[in-house]
Parts: sequence; structure tokens; C-alpha cells
Amino acid sequence: MDLTQIRKDFPILSRQVHGKPLVYLDNGATTQKPKCVIDKITEMYTTTNANVHRGVHFLSQAATDKHEASRRVVQQFINATSANEIVFTRGTTEAINLIASSFCREFCKEADEIIISAMEHHSNIVPWQLQESISGVKLRVLPITDEGEIELGQLETMISSRTKLISVTHVSNVLGTINPIEKIIEIAHSYNIPVLIDAAQSVQHISIDVQKLDCDFLVFSSHKAYGPTGMGVLFGKEKWLEKLPPYQGGGEMIASVSFEKTTFANLPFKFEAGTPDYIGSSALATALKYISNLGMDNILKHEHELLTYATERLSEIDNLKIYGTAKNKSSVISFVVDGVHPYDMGVLLDMQGIAVRTGHHCAEPLMRRLGIESTVRASFALYNTKDEVDVLAKGVKRVVKMF
Ligand code: PLP
Repeated sequence: MDLTQIRKDFPILSRQVHGKPLVYLDNGATTQKPKCVIDKITEMYTTTNANVHRGVHFLSQAATDKHEASRRVVQQFINATSANEIVFTRGTTEAINLIASSFCREFCKEADEIIISAMEHHSNIVPWQLQESISGVKLRVLPITDEGEIELGQLETMISSRTKLISVTHVSNVLGTINPIEKIIEIAHSYNIPVLIDAAQSVQHISIDVQKLDCDFLVFSSHKAYGPTGMGVLFGKEKWLEKLPPYQGGGEMIASVSFEKTTFANLPFKFEAGTPDYIGSSALATALKYISNLGMDNILKHEHELLTYATERLSEIDNLKIYGTAKNKSSVISFVVDGVHPYDMGVLLDMQGIAVRTGHHCAEPLMRRLGIESTVRASFALYNTKDEVDVLAKGVKRVVKMF
């Protein structure tokens, strides 16, 4: 990958912060946007803005064509069998809430169980907890090792006739662990249990083929994959989406409405109440084409090199502990330095132009499992460089010296 050229594609990377060149290492929270994505948003508002699906006029049809073409780009990106399996949402969080709500309403009764893992983001915990008080389902939590790997051997002991769905993250946003989702799906399916994969931290790093994976649902956010905010994707196998009731009601999701009886639209529109983000879908499609053109395997290789290098450099620092040492890791490093609160580390790195995330990373139960309250997290994207890793390592050393 030609990193000099790639970095030029991202205008924000050339800005300064506190008088220092920006070193953006908060990609797990959101990625920066290439110019083609930014331009697409302007182009759409400048040339093709009209509400979709219900207009007979030229602009509405043009906007509809682009919106639906974008759905097909997403379909191809994850290799879904049909565009009907791609539901646009506001993000990963909304997509999981949709499944939690519709799935539990249709398939769960009191004391049925949903299995998640101990390393889930709050957005794959709380939507299920909300269902605990509505449909009476119970959450079961697959434990993890001290290294941050799922204890796969425990899965079969937890599965019972009450298990209705397994919902796990592909990549941990805190530990970087790449979970063995192929194996989890295989085990779950041997008991006829569907699986939801939270791909919020994987789709931008690892090539995903939902047919090969055979997952039943997969969700991700556009903004973490170089696309715009407020946009997300729910993939669901058609056989499941057909059976699930709508999540929200309103325009676009109906076939016909009367006060006596309302019928619902076909897939995927049944799950897309209200005006969709037809500008966001085009910008997301542009982002996915951008990373596809670079090549997902090239991106993975580059980010893996960054991870290896950053792990080496940070490990040289006295009293620095890395949380998450799984064998199979994505480009995320969480760490804590003895005697330096992660918040202080974050603020003092920021003064040097280095953007990292500090805190519990929306994974409080995981923090409790690790016996800590917070970490500093550096998360790398395709445009990061080894020089930036050096700046991070030097910056951390400088902060340690100050303490
Ligand atoms: N799942 C994981 C693993 C995440 O890292 C995040 C965000 O950090 C989410 C879900 C939620 O994503 P969003 O806030 O875009 O809905």
C-alpha cells in the first residue's frame, strides 16, 4: 500500500492539534473519511437530493436508484445472497436493538436464554437486558481467559433447549481479540441456534463473507469503516428476516394502512421505517469501494504489521501492561502504566497531538473481569504508519517521565 498517497486521501490527517501534527489513533471509536466520501456527500446534496421511493419525479427516482445501488454495494462487500438481506440502520447499536426487539418478541418466552460473551460492547449487552424485562429472556455470559480469549470449551456446556440466540462480537473493541466466530457458528448451528455477529470492529479490517461464515445476522457501523456517521447495516438471512416482526412503524415500511388492518412492505423495507439516510448510503458505498480497491488483505497485512510493531515498542516501556494478548488480534492495543491514570495519559498524549481513547470503552463488565476501571486504547487504521507508532511510544515515555 502506498501510504503517502493514501494519507493524502484523508484531508484531516494533515491538520495540526495543539501545534503538533495530528497522530490519530482513535480509529476504534471512529475512522477518518477519505475525500471521495466527503465529496460524495456534497455531490449528492448538490445534484441528487430528493426523498426516495415515493416520488415519480426525476430527482426522486435518481436518488432512489443511488440508494438501492448502494445497498447492492453493501451486499457485494459482505457477499450476501440478496440485497433483501441488507437493512440500513443508524449503526451497529440500532441494528442490535432491532434484532433484540424483533427476535425476542417473536421467538422468546420467559426463561429462554441469549448467550453473549464477557467482552461485549454495551450495545451487545443492554439491548438484551431491556428484553429481560419485556419478554423475560435471561442473559448468559460466555467467560473469557486472562489473555482475553473466549473460553470456547464452555459454550456447549451453556447451550440448552432454552438457548434461543448467540450474539458475539467478531473483534473486541478493548482487547483486539479476533474471536473464533466460525467455530461458534458451527457449534451453535449444530443445535439449530442462530448467531448474530457484531462486526463493528472487524468489517473495516477483515474481509467478511456472510455466506461462507453462515452467520444468521451480522451488524456494523458505517462511521467505523471510513463512511459517514448515522449509518449502519444489518445483514440477516432472508429466512430469518421474513419471520421477524417490524421493529418500528411509520412510512416506507408498509404495504397498506387502514385503521382496521395494516400490512407490511417486503424485505428489506419492512425494517426501514421513515425516510432513510439516502445520502449516507451513497457515502457508505463510496467508502466500501475505497477500501475494496485498496484490498482487504492488504489492509489486514499492513495493520497487523502496525500491531506487531506497536506491541514491541510499547512493551519496552517499564511498568506498562498490555491488556489483551490473544493469539489472534486485530490492530487495537489497550494498556495501563503503573502510577499513571489512563485519563492523565490521554490528556498528556493529546497535548502532543496524539489522539487515543481512555476509559472503559463502553465495556464495563469486561473492565470488571480484568480487574481494572479503564485503559488507554490506541487503535490503528489503514492510514497509520510506523512513524506514528514511534511518536506514540515516545509520547508515552515522556508522560511516564513526568510522573
Ligand atoms: N460494538 C462494538 C464492538 C463497538 O466497538 C461499538 C462501538 O464502539 C459498537 C458496537 C457500537 O457502535 P455504534 O456506536 O456505531 O452503534
